[in-house]
Amino acid sequence: MRQHPGSSRQQIAKALGVSKNTVSLIIDRYIQSGIVRETGTVEAGNVGRPRIRLTIDSQSMTAAGILIGKKTAQYRVMDYASNVLETGEMALHGENPDTCLEEIKRLCRSLHRQYPTLLGIGIGIPGLVDPVAGVVHYSAHLGWDRTEVKKTIESCLALPVYVLNNVKAASLAWLQPAQPASSDLFYIRLGEGVGGAYIHESGVFHGSSWTAGEIGHLSVRENGPVCRCGKKGCLETLVGVPAILQVMAERAKRKFSGPKELRRFLDEPENRDRVKEVMCRLGYDLGQVLPSVIHLFNPRQIIIDSPLDRSSDFQQAIIDETCRKTLSYSFHQVEIRFVYTPHAILSGAAQAVILEYENEQIFVN
Ligand SMILES: [Zn+2]
Repeated sequence: MRQHPGSSRQQIAKALGVSKNTVSLIIDRYIQSGIVRETGTVEAGNVGRPRIRLTIDSQSMTAAGILIGKKTAQYRVMDYASNVLETGEMALHGENPDTCLEEIKRLCRSLHRQYPTLLGIGIGIPGLVDPVAGVVHYSAHLGWDRTEVKKTIESCLALPVYVLNNVKAASLAWLQPAQPASSDLFYIRLGEGVGGAYIHESGVFHGSSWTAGEIGHLSVRENGPVCRCGKKGCLETLVGVPAILQVMAERAKRKFSGPKELRRFLDEPENRDRVKEVMCRLGYDLGQVLPSVIHLFNPRQIIIDSPLDRSSDFQQAIIDETCRKTLSYSFHQVEIRFVYTPHAILSGAAQAVILEYENEQIFVN
């Protein structure tokens, strides 16, 4: 019903392969609790009664997503149809995980007071996260080791909390109804760090120790720069946003305050030629890992989320390099898309709450 608003009981029964009576019983319960509304009719042609359209009252359920960073926490509240109700940022003063989580607790409580219809809160964290236990095993970016996030925050909140790796959270933003539904995509995000996530059958694949998709630490240059993980030449040291800003500052002989300013600079036609070589090299470096992604996961779509999304030189270098090193048949089946969605982590973390709620409903019913 979220993906196909306005469906009738008959259409739902047919799509799920269950009887109309079963669907009607469940729908009646949702109507009574105010979650679902009957909104008009669908003409059934000359025969039969017109069918009643059903719509989820998207305002009746909301979800929040939070991204914990080093100095700030960003947050977003969305309704059930993924309409954004609020986006904000809060400064964090805590120097260790305990004090930081105290501040996050206060944020969660205040969001719940403001939005009593919250189904839960999703939290994205850069690092290795066990999403079932809600434990952060390691975060180089935050300087955290084995930290119980879910348990700590749930202890003071009458809401479920879901903790996810930030890139895996962002990948879930592509499961929103507004996005072209694809259950078979590999999402790559160039941010402070570089990460990837494979989405299959409406869920993100975590792997046995939560590291599936961590392409940022694939070594692509034998004697490249030392990464924060301790190894040399990791992809992250070459195409992470800090590395991009640095190399661009050297080439353009100016400083960039952040990815948005860099993006504006790249949009100016007269700047394109000046930075063509840099864009090609960045694309070449990222292009080193795509053949592995295609051969290992065989996704239908690869989404590359970065502030370089509109650079045709960057795009072409990636495509050329991937084509050169991938089996020709596989290469021609995959679609590579370039996007820039700075708030995807927040939307995806909120989306995780909605997906968990829907999974629970399957058991309830
Ligand atoms: Zn590394």
